[in-house]
Amino acid sequence: MNKNTATYQTTCSYCGVGCGIEIEKDPKGKLKLKGEETYPVNRGMLCSKGRTLNYVVEEQQDRLLYPQMRWSRNHELQRVDWDTAIKRGAAVFRSLIDRFGPDSVGMYVSGQCLTEEYYIANKLTKGFWGTNNIDTNSRLCMSSAVAGYAKTVGEDTVPIAYEDIELADTFFITGANPAWCHPILFRRIEQHKENNPDVKLIVADPRKTQTAALADIYLPLRPGTDTALHHALGRILIEEGYLDVDFIEKHVQGYEAYRDQVMQYTLEQYATTCDLDPMLIVKAARMMGESEGFLTMWTMGLNQSAQGTDKNLSLLALNLITGQIGKPGAGPFSLTGQPNAMGGREVGGMASLLAAHRDLMNPDHRQEVADFWGVPEISPNPGYTATQMFEALDRGDMKAIWIVCTNPMVSLPDTALVERALKKARFVIVQDISGRSDTVAFADLVLPAAGWLEKEGTMTNSERRISYLPKVVDAPGEALPDLEILLRFAKQMGYHGFDYQNAEEVFLEYTRLTKGTNIDIEGLTYAILQEKRSVQWPFNKVTQEGTTRLFTDHQFYTADGKAKLHVGANKGHSDMLTEDYPLVLTTGRIRDQWHTMTRTGKVNRLSKHIDKPFLEIHPEDAARRGIKEGSIVVIRNDRGEVQVNATLSDKIRKGVVFLPMHWGKILSSAFARTNNLTSRNIDPVSKEPDFKYSAVEVTLYQKP
Ligand code: SF4
Repeated sequence: MNKNTATYQTTCSYCGVGCGIEIEKDPKGKLKLKGEETYPVNRGMLCSKGRTLNYVVEEQQDRLLYPQMRWSRNHELQRVDWDTAIKRGAAVFRSLIDRFGPDSVGMYVSGQCLTEEYYIANKLTKGFWGTNNIDTNSRLCMSSAVAGYAKTVGEDTVPIAYEDIELADTFFITGANPAWCHPILFRRIEQHKENNPDVKLIVADPRKTQTAALADIYLPLRPGTDTALHHALGRILIEEGYLDVDFIEKHVQGYEAYRDQVMQYTLEQYATTCDLDPMLIVKAARMMGESEGFLTMWTMGLNQSAQGTDKNLSLLALNLITGQIGKPGAGPFSLTGQPNAMGGREVGGMASLLAAHRDLMNPDHRQEVADFWGVPEISPNPGYTATQMFEALDRGDMKAIWIVCTNPMVSLPDTALVERALKKARFVIVQDISGRSDTVAFADLVLPAAGWLEKEGTMTNSERRISYLPKVVDAPGEALPDLEILLRFAKQMGYHGFDYQNAEEVFLEYTRLTKGTNIDIEGLTYAILQEKRSVQWPFNKVTQEGTTRLFTDHQFYTADGKAKLHVGANKGHSDMLTEDYPLVLTTGRIRDQWHTMTRTGKVNRLSKHIDKPFLEIHPEDAARRGIKEGSIVVIRNDRGEVQVNATLSDKIRKGVVFLPMHWGKILSSAFARTNNLTSRNIDPVSKEPDFKYSAVEVTLYQKP
């Protein structure tokens, strides 16, 4: 290594696994990257996406380099300087707030924002604009898990640590394909299983994914029947005496009502609902019941559902009735989609939250935060969540939106509504790093942001591990860190309390707000994070140590310290299948692409795995429609259509079709957008959209 080569440690900016990355920067600025050998998350490993992040930083052709603005909807975007851009944005938001009230504006942010950025966005909207209309694209991936945790253990809290993977002997992975979407965690499970042949894996999924291929028991359940499967497993665990009676008596509330609920139906009835062999369910339950250390792992397959909260509650129940929580190798483990979805929730970056998991609906919590920020009050009005914000723009209730680091024209459900909403909005700000976003076309003001390695801050991964990300290179052109853009905007609007010298001052302010809460990190500094590389919250400022595992004393964050079992009361509705639309569309991700491909789409080698959008369909469903491998097909419902090539596979259930969610107009065509078809049905509690169950029909493409 050249003696002038500088070395940095940072964290991968794709998924919530949060792998450690070591960067070497040579004197000419060339970057080399590898997995950080000593980082506890990945121990030197990186997946295909993480390994190619340096190309994303170095390839700058698509980058937004300077602010752009249009004077009216009839004008093209024009280059302007930062002063002009910030003054215009601040003036428009000020005038809309004065004229129509604070709830006429909103901000839609991203699980890829750093914690400091999230904190300031939240402070600006809730503290100073006076509206709770700030939500995040994490609403699309984690909010059902958040609701499940809050109702069960009293707070949005992932109790386990990754080191529990090597301590568990049984895994139940449901509604997740970590082999593709959380590859390094899955590699740890694979290695653990290779080293310990007694380790068992149960996988439930309507598609036989690469994760399911490793399963000892694979449960190809009918889409949408997860709660019935969980109840069936609960019933067998009760009937066959696998309960931890002592744990239930001392630490769990609601067991009798739960038991009565799961006993309402027979095993055969559950098996019919799920379309599964009853003996497979029995075997899976026995495997769980006999386990010494049992981990449940899940993500979008349960969360992205109009019944997402119920699915989470019924899954969490399995850990509670068997006492498999708060001990090594056991517990519920929701896999986080985005790199800082958890950090965003910590600082209250959702319409329903306040910093340090305070509850927006609690007047004492609101006053505490208002006093801390030096503002008279936080509005008691619930804010619009992600999909609700775009519906409010469409209705005209909201007049302006500021979109930070996310691409709703591809990622939100029901694209036609999103497009209509953005066109109807009086003012749209898009703050992003890339011109590859379909959303930029709708902006009245484009603010170019710095990306990964171009700014400093912190993130929290799926196991509550906070890490520090240093600035390694300068941002191109006039792009600025998101934090600086937010601070300039706030100051331009005349607000006090935004005079920070650097990102760490923001972080330290946030840490003070956590004092005395369950995520207390008071006393944590960038220096400590740089020295230790990472810390799992809560942080003990006396011992200077984080916390590996929660609830080891079996005291939960509820008023009486007991975890709560819930009976399902969630009435969220999915699409109904009809004669016209008889197939269930489920959407998801592929191994080598990330979200809407604004970054992974730049790396040629990542397209070698799968290079274009496709429809996966069972050969019998295809044959009935005259569809062959590679045929161009139209997937249609009343909301819109998608045109792609068909891939025939017997790994998907009959009656179900799958589309990946990544491609949009810029990277393919407007007809490749999967969310042309998805519905605005949401879970009534978590408000998470129902991406996994849309009614569609598929036909062969006919030339017009
Ligand atoms: Fe990055 Fe996730 Fe891959 Fe790790 S597993 S390298 S965090 S994308």
